[in-house]
Amino acid sequence: MSGSGNMAAGRPYLAIPGPSVVPDQVLQAMHRPSPNIYAGELVEMTAALIPDLRQVARTQHDAAIYIANGHGAWEAALQNTLQPGDRVLVPASGRFAIGWSEMAEALGIDAEILDFGPHAPWDMDRIAERLAADREHRIKAVLGVHVDTSSSIRNDVAALRRALDAAGHPALLLADCIASLGCERFEMDAWGVDVMVSASQKGLMVPPGLSFVFFNGRAAAARAALPRVSRYWDWAPRASPDEFYQYFGGTAPTHHLYGLRAALGMIHAEGIENVWARHAHLARAIWAACEAWGADGPLRMNVPDRRLRSNAVTALHIGSPLGTELRHWLERNLGLTLGIGLGMAPAGSSGWHGFFRIGHMGHVNGHMVMGLLGGIETGLEALNIPHGPGALEAAAMALAGR
Ligand SMILES: *Cc1c(COP(=O)(O)O)cnc(C)c1O
Repeated sequence: MSGSGNMAAGRPYLAIPGPSVVPDQVLQAMHRPSPNIYAGELVEMTAALIPDLRQVARTQHDAAIYIANGHGAWEAALQNTLQPGDRVLVPASGRFAIGWSEMAEALGIDAEILDFGPHAPWDMDRIAERLAADREHRIKAVLGVHVDTSSSIRNDVAALRRALDAAGHPALLLADCIASLGCERFEMDAWGVDVMVSASQKGLMVPPGLSFVFFNGRAAAARAALPRVSRYWDWAPRASPDEFYQYFGGTAPTHHLYGLRAALGMIHAEGIENVWARHAHLARAIWAACEAWGADGPLRMNVPDRRLRSNAVTALHIGSPLGTELRHWLERNLGLTLGIGLGMAPAGSSGWHGFFRIGHMGHVNGHMVMGLLGGIETGLEALNIPHGPGALEAAAMALAGR
């Protein structure tokens, strides 16, 4: 390269599917001395967060906040609804569904996976068949990951509820919206979801460390019928605390709460429907570019059908070791970091070097997406990776609405 100065100085851009870009407003809200946790602003602010969280989740029901990442919310949802020996059905379109099922297994829950592989959405006929065959209702819950962040497939959570209802099956519907909340349309109550888990560091734009479990009356009844619930994960005191302390089972996550306050304020100022529309619009630009690159050379989108793609994350295949080489080149030379491939190659193989992911969740706008795509185009050129022409033009047209 002539004039081969490094171009990575300047503001770095972490375009991975979580943690996502943290807005300056959130960072500034967190930059403060430790507040009093017993009285005053923090206490009042925390109570006021709950109605705002409910609006983002589109639910009238209860919410519990945990000082944990998404794995903590996974465990909390299971601990409050199930006991050892219970069975759950887990339709899987990627690695995260498998991860949640493994967590259930570790708690002594019998997890039955219907694995549709990392390229296909849930097959509702097979799910309906399995539910109909469960005449004794041994399946106590269905665990559905809305957007599987490994494959970037978006599944139809409302269809899962319709399948349960059509089968007259009483199993609870538990949804993982860790990648999708604040990015994609999700309607907890209208879609008949009993429990929904999410976390702070993706569409909610706050650093990792907070997670959320929303639960309705059916789920609360399941919790009440359990012989015991882990003291820390018990959602009951967190959802209706007598003491501020009980929201968190101990010291409050002080600074994260200020960050969350700012982030929810931004979401409400924009309007949740507008937030969803922005993600959809930006995703179309990313797809347009990826499809153009893929017209020649090795780049392939993991999900060929646009209707099945997430608006928050895009998984791609480019062949080993090009995925890793491209990521490294972009990070070292442009200050742009893309996500690694996850769960797409056999465990222990070097195949994962052939995959990468783009995170486009949360605090992302049009110029960031054009910078991201221009960066990838630059990396393809620098590494002499063959690719189809016209990607940036196609993305610009998509953003321009043409
Ligand atoms: C990120 C993610 C998780 C795991 O969340 P952590 O905060 O990393 O524990 C689970 N499910 C989905 C769909 C995710 O995107």
